[in-house]
Amino acid sequence: MNRLTALTAPPLFLRPHLYGVRRQALGEILSAHGLPSYRAAQLFTWVYRKHRRDPAEMTDLPQTLRRELDQICDVALPKVASVQSTRDGNTHKFVLALADGARVECVSMRTPRRLTFCLSSQVGCALKCSFCATGLMGLERNLTPQEIVAQVLHMGDFHGWSDDRFNLVFMGMGEPLANYRHVVDAIHILHDPARLEPRRAADHGLDQRARATDPRARRARSAARARGVAPRHHRRASRSSWCR
Ligand code: SF4
Repeated sequence: MNRLTALTAPPLFLRPHLYGVRRQALGEILSAHGLPSYRAAQLFTWVYRKHRRDPAEMTDLPQTLRRELDQICDVALPKVASVQSTRDGNTHKFVLALADGARVECVSMRTPRRLTFCLSSQVGCALKCSFCATGLMGLERNLTPQEIVAQVLHMGDFHGWSDDRFNLVFMGMGEPLANYRHVVDAIHILHDPARLEPRRAADHGLDQRARATDPRARRARSAARARGVAPRHHRRASRSSWCR
């Protein structure tokens, strides 16, 4: 550890979590350790686009940062305690063991058109819906952003990241609106532009601009509005950029 990091490193239990902070906040954390904030974008790209989480593999980071990243941030993820699969192999239920011993479930569902990850937002739930086993537990606690992000990372790993496009739904344990701040943080982290291929990100912007100015697209939009139907790309724009 260099002298600057040694002086400014927080106690281990106070380290921010690598998977629980937005890119800008991670940049500020790195800056506070005397490192350039753009390293945050590189870290996001490694984790969320290249799906590598071992700092030793992040070859465009300086050796010192690769060695010391776990001194700056907590990089531990909850472990997968079990996976149960349906006979047709399209649905998998994952149980994650959290650091405090709590367990939460998340489910991946594959249909011919898409892969959907169903996420939990709380341990237990305060709403006590009569038909729901989670409701019987009562609320134990909210999940942190990193515990929500971890569900996606584990399910993506399981499916080999064969397709980066999938839907996220918060229909697992807990009421997401009761843990609004952490759920929104997790969504921002998972949607960060640094996880997009630069070419795809640029193409997406070009595509949007082209659609906005193309007379045929304008006519199609007018016709759709006249029929009371939202144009297709408007419907898609309201959905996640990970969703198709
Ligand atoms: S997890 Fe959902 S269904 Fe179950 S008690 Fe909470 S809100 Fe109701």
